[in-house]
Amino acid sequence: MLAEAQRGEGELLREEVSALARPLASFSRGRVALIGDAAHPLPPNLAQGAAVAIEDAEALARALAASPENLGAALCAYDAARLPRVAACRRVTNMTRAIAAAPEAAALMQWVPAKVNTAVFDAFLRYSLTARV
Ligand SMILES: Cc1cc2nc3c(=O)[nH]c(=O)nc-3n(C[C@H](O)[C@H](O)[C@H](O)COP(=O)(O)OP(=O)(O)OC[C@H]3O[C@@H](n4cnc5c(N)ncnc54)[C@H](O)[C@@H]3O)c2cc1C
Repeated sequence: MLAEAQRGEGELLREEVSALARPLASFSRGRVALIGDAAHPLPPNLAQGAAVAIEDAEALARALAASPENLGAALCAYDAARLPRVAACRRVTNMTRAIAAAPEAAALMQWVPAKVNTAVFDAFLRYSLTARV
């Protein structure tokens, strides 16, 4: 659908939102923690930026509640909860971005077994924060 939209009349879709050239190794420094786009701007292909920002906020709140006397430990726990998830988001977003940009992407996608598609996107979209923090 994205590929079609990009090739549609008037070429309305532009894509200037980009990811960090080098993803952050940590979302905090000292007493400052980043969430959302400030921590991990993602290209919009999966439309999950706000969802991931909300996950960040929840994970940060849980980490702070679990270690109210130890900010360092809380922010380490926050990183541990969020860095792998955000890396996975980046991978899936980049994959969909590459598919959308390929001239024959829609045709190629028909050859991807439904099981593979489902496995990739279910693992991503059915993420459960409560199972991890
Ligand atoms: C076209 C488009 C479509 C999208 N669609 C979706 C979607 O369908 N689903 C989805 O999950 N995500 C979507 N996203 C992504 C989503 O909008 C962002 O990932 C999300 O808004 C990030 O939230 P945030 O709070 O981190 O940053 P922001 O929403 O950018 O909030 C940052 C806020 O800080 C303010 N600010 C900046 N500098 C200062 C300052 N110096 N002092 C005070 N305030 C300041 C800004 O004005 C802004 O209000 C879309 C993004 C775009 C561009």
